[in-house]
Amino acid sequence: MKNDALSTALSQFDDAADRLHLDDDVRGVLRVSKRELSVNFPVNMDDGSIQVFCGYRVQHNIARGPAKGGLRYSPHVSLDEMRALAMWMTWKAAVVKLPFGGAKGGVMVDPRALSAAELEDLTRRYATEISIIIGQSEDIPAPDMGTNPQIMAWIMDTISMHKGHTVTGVVTGKPVAVGGTLGRVEATGRGVLFVIEELCKQESINLEGSTVAIQGFGNVGSVAANLLRRAGARVVAVSDRSGGVYDGGGLDVDSLVEHRKAKPLVECSGVDKITNAEVLGLPVDFLIPAALEGQITSQNAGDVRARFIVEGANGPTTPGADRILEERGVTIVPDILANAGGVIVSYFEWVQDLQFYFWEEDEVNDRLRKVITRAYREVAAAAERDGVTMRQAAMALGVGRVVEATLIRGIYP
Ligand code: GLU
Repeated sequence: MKNDALSTALSQFDDAADRLHLDDDVRGVLRVSKRELSVNFPVNMDDGSIQVFCGYRVQHNIARGPAKGGLRYSPHVSLDEMRALAMWMTWKAAVVKLPFGGAKGGVMVDPRALSAAELEDLTRRYATEISIIIGQSEDIPAPDMGTNPQIMAWIMDTISMHKGHTVTGVVTGKPVAVGGTLGRVEATGRGVLFVIEELCKQESINLEGSTVAIQGFGNVGSVAANLLRRAGARVVAVSDRSGGVYDGGGLDVDSLVEHRKAKPLVECSGVDKITNAEVLGLPVDFLIPAALEGQITSQNAGDVRARFIVEGANGPTTPGADRILEERGVTIVPDILANAGGVIVSYFEWVQDLQFYFWEEDEVNDRLRKVITRAYREVAAAAERDGVTMRQAAMALGVGRVVEATLIRGIYP
C-alpha cells in the first residue's frame, strides 16, 4: 500500500496524463523521481548518547531547471511522502512558470523534542549528507513543516564551510541578514491572500465581510489569517494540532499569534473551542486547509459547507474528496497554485543571491502578486474553457509544460 500522499499525487498525475493524451513513454518518465537519496546519519545528543536519524532528498524532475523544494522535519517523513511532495513541487514551479524542477527533503524527527544544539548538529550533518546533490545550480532547499530561517542559515553556512566561501544561493528562506529576501516569511500566506483577492474579483465577491476558516496555524495559516483579516475578511475559526478556536464575529488574530508563541491555541481564553473536524465543516466562504496532506477525504468531504477551498497545504484533499466536492459545487483552488507564493518568493531570493543585489519589500510583494495572479487567471481560464476543475486545469498546465521541456530536450544519449 502506497503512502496516501503518493497515491494522491500519482492519481492526480494520471488524470492529467489522460487529459493530455500522454503516451506511456512520457508517463513513465514523469511518474517516478529522477533521483532519490536516503541517508542515515549519527548525531551526538546532549546526554552523551549517539542517535541515528534517517533523512531524504528526492529530486522529482529537473527538465525545466534546478530542483527546488522544501525540507520537512517531522516524525511522519517517509520516502513515499517525499516522492509525492517533490512531484507537486515540479508541477507547482511549472504552473507559475518558475525555471525550476521539483524536489523535497526531510528528516524523520520531531524537532520540538531536540535541544537547540541537537537541532543545529542534526541540521549541519544532514546538510553535509545531502551536499552531494544540492547546490545553487543543482538543487535549492527551503523551509517546510518543522523547519525555519535559522535552519536554512545553518545549511547555508555548512555548505559554505565545505566550499571555503559563502554560497548564499544554495538554500532559500534564509534570514535577511545572510542573503534572505524581505517578504519570504510571509510569502506563502500572502500568496493565499492574492489568490483569494483575484478569485473575489472574478466571482464578484466582496472580500470585506466574507468568512474564513483555517486549519493549521503555522507559518502559512497564521500569516494568511492575519493578512485576510487586515483585508477585511472575518476569520471565524483557526486550528492547530491541539484543536480549534471559534468566534462568529471574527477572531482577534494578532492576539492568537501572540498567544500561540508560548501555548497551544486551545488554551486561549475568551473564544469558543471547536474540534479540527468542526473547523472543516463550518459554513464559511473560504476554507483554507494549511496543515498536513490528506485532511479532506471521501469520509469528511460531505461535511464541508464552505463555498471555496483554497489549499494552503500541499495535498490536503484526496481524489475521492475532490469528486464529492465537485458534485457538491465546492470550488477548490489547488495547492500547486494557491500555496505557490512561498516558492515564487524563494525564486526571487535565489535571483537576488545570484546577482548580489537586493530588492525593497514592496518590489518583492508586487512581483509576487503579478506572478501568482497571472497564474490564477491562466488556470481559471483553462478550467472555464475545458469545463474542468481548477485542479485539473492547473495539473494540465503544469504537467504540459514539463512534458514540453522534456520533449524539446530529448532523451540523452
Ligand atoms: N516548502 C514550500 C512549498 O511546499 C516552499 C518551497 C520552496 O520555497 O522551495 O512550496
